[in-house]
Amino acid sequence: MKIHLKQIPVDGLHLEGDEECPLPELASEGIRCLGPLFYNIDIGVSGGALWANGSLRQGVELSCVCCLEKFAYEIKVPAFALRTELHGPETVDLTPFMREDLLLNLPAHPRCDRDGDHVCKAATKSGEIGALVVAFVFS
Ligand SMILES: [Zn+2]
Repeated sequence: MKIHLKQIPVDGLHLEGDEECPLPELASEGIRCLGPLFYNIDIGVSGGALWANGSLRQGVELSCVCCLEKFAYEIKVPAFALRTELHGPETVDLTPFMREDLLLNLPAHPRCDRDGDHVCKAATKSGEIGALVVAFVFS
């Protein structure tokens, strides 16, 4: 997302919409974009720097670390914020900043049952094994 500094009024600019998923290179890691990136941000220029804050949402498909099943997950960045010094160019690309914040909010060990509305096959199996072990130890 490239911002033309001339398009930003003195009192800032509100941007809301969607654009192409900024994470295409993650396909090799089993992470696939589901739909576009949704953004809702305010940007402005002050003191020789560009600032932005707002929220981002990006749907992705992840693989569960336990059962390896794919599941849909929404990366939410509720407090996206950046401040970057301006060094002359008339456009600033926000995409690297957005990508970084999305990656920071990506679960390191994604589990298909993390939302609680889905039972992970692997988790129920290990749960049963755990119960058997406990039953054996106490018998
Ligand atoms: Zn799972």
